[in-house]
Amino acid sequence: MSEKYDVIVIGGGPSGASAAKSLAEAQIRVLVIDKDDFPREKLCGGGLTANAKRAIKKIFKNVEFISREEKELHILNYSDDRFSPYITYSWKRPIIEVVDRFNFDDALLKEAINTGAKFEKDRITEIKINRDEEFELISKDRIYTSDYLIVACGTFGTKLFREKDLISPNYSIIYQTSADNVSRGNAISFFDEGFFWKFDAESYSKIGIGKYPPYLSYESAKKILSNYSSEEIKVAPIPVFNLRYSNEINKSIPGCLFVGDSGGFVNNWTGEGISYAMDSGDFAARAILKHYSDPERINQNFLDRLYKMASHLQIAEAFRKIFYKDMNRSLEILGEKKFAKLFISFLSNYHTSTKKLKFRSFFIGGVKSYGSEKIK
Ligand SMILES: Cc1cc2nc3c(=O)[nH]c(=O)nc-3n(C[C@H](O)[C@H](O)[C@H](O)COP(=O)(O)OP(=O)(O)OC[C@H]3O[C@@H](n4cnc5c(N)ncnc54)[C@H](O)[C@@H]3O)c2cc1C
Repeated sequence: MSEKYDVIVIGGGPSGASAAKSLAEAQIRVLVIDKDDFPREKLCGGGLTANAKRAIKKIFKNVEFISREEKELHILNYSDDRFSPYITYSWKRPIIEVVDRFNFDDALLKEAINTGAKFEKDRITEIKINRDEEFELISKDRIYTSDYLIVACGTFGTKLFREKDLISPNYSIIYQTSADNVSRGNAISFFDEGFFWKFDAESYSKIGIGKYPPYLSYESAKKILSNYSSEEIKVAPIPVFNLRYSNEINKSIPGCLFVGDSGGFVNNWTGEGISYAMDSGDFAARAILKHYSDPERINQNFLDRLYKMASHLQIAEAFRKIFYKDMNRSLEILGEKKFAKLFISFLSNYHTSTKKLKFRSFFIGGVKSYGSEKIK
C-alpha cells in the first residue's frame, strides 16, 4: 500500500526545507524524505551572505540558529601554494556570517515540521510516474505517492528518474578541512579558475578550495590545505550553473521541479549555494500553490519566478570568465574601494544586469577597504 501526499520533497537541506515550509504554511499535505536523520553533517563552508540572510528572513521569519558574524572580509593573494594578506573589506554589516550546517539545516527543517510538514527518514532509489500521472517514489521497503514532486537531494537528483535518462548538471569537486589553530578572520581568495575560503565557526575554522572544471586533483588540494591543517580533507561535488540545464530540466516533467543543487543553482564565481537553494525551494512551492490544479503551468511559473536569480547567476558566470582572464589585473581591481562596494552589492541581492549592479553599488554605504598592513 503506498502513502499519498499532495507534494513530496526529496531532501531536507536548505532547498527542501524552504519548499516544505512554504507549502506547509499554505496547509498543503507535504512530506519531506531524507536519507539521513537530522541533525546531519553536510560538508560546507557555511558562509551566509547578506542575500542568504534575506532569503532566511523571507521564508523562515523567526527561525533561530547560532552564527558567527564578522564585519570584515580579508581578500588573500595566492602564490607558491600559499595565501597571504592582500586587502581587507570592512562593512557596517557582516559581509559573511558563518553557520555550522549541522545545526543550521536542522533548525530550518524543524521550522518546516513545526509548520505542518511531515518527515520520513528513507533513501529514495527510484522515481516513476504511474498511469494516473502520480509520482511514485520507491525506497527499499516502501512506495510513496504524490501529485507533485520537488527534487532537492543534491547534485545528482535527476538520476533518480532511472527510466528517463535525464542529464545531471555539470559539476566540480571541492575540498574542505578544518583547523583550530589558524589566525581568526574570514578570508577568501581567487586563483587559477578557482576559489579558496577560510570561514570561522565558533571554535574552529573551515578551510576549503575548489576550482571550475577540470577540477583540482586531490594531491594539489592537499598540497595547499596541508599548509593550514593536518586534519582529514573531505571532498564533495558542487554543481556548475548552466542556464540551459536549469531551464531544460525544469521543463522536462510536468509537476516536478528541481531545486537547489539538483537544479544546478550555484554561483560559479564564488561557490555560494545556500541562498539559491532556499529561494529556488520557495519559488517551487509558490509555483505549485499558484497553479495547483494545472500541472502544465507549474513548471513555466517556476521558471518565471527564477528569472532574477538566474540572471544573477549568469552575471556571476560572466564575472568568473573576465576575472580569471587576467588574474594580476583582477587582483589590482579587488584592491579598489569602488570594487569592494560592487562585490558587497553583488553578495547582497540579485541583479539582473551588470549596469544595475554597478548603479546599486553606488548606494552601498559604510564600506571601507584597506591594505594588508591592517591584517594581523
Ligand atoms: C565543500 C563545500 C563548501 C560549500 N560552502 C558554501 C558556503 O560557504 N556558502 C554557501 O552558500 N554554499 C556553500 N556550498 C554550497 C552549498 O553547500 C549547497 O549549494 C547547498 O547545500 C545546496 O542545498 P540543497 O538543499 O540543494 O542540498 P543539500 O544541502 O545537499 O541537501 C540535500 C539533502 O538530500 C538528501 N538526499 C540525497 N539523496 C537522497 C535520496 N536518494 N533520498 C533521500 N534523501 C536524499 C541528503 O541527505 C541531504 O540532506 C558549499 C558546498 C561544498 C560542497
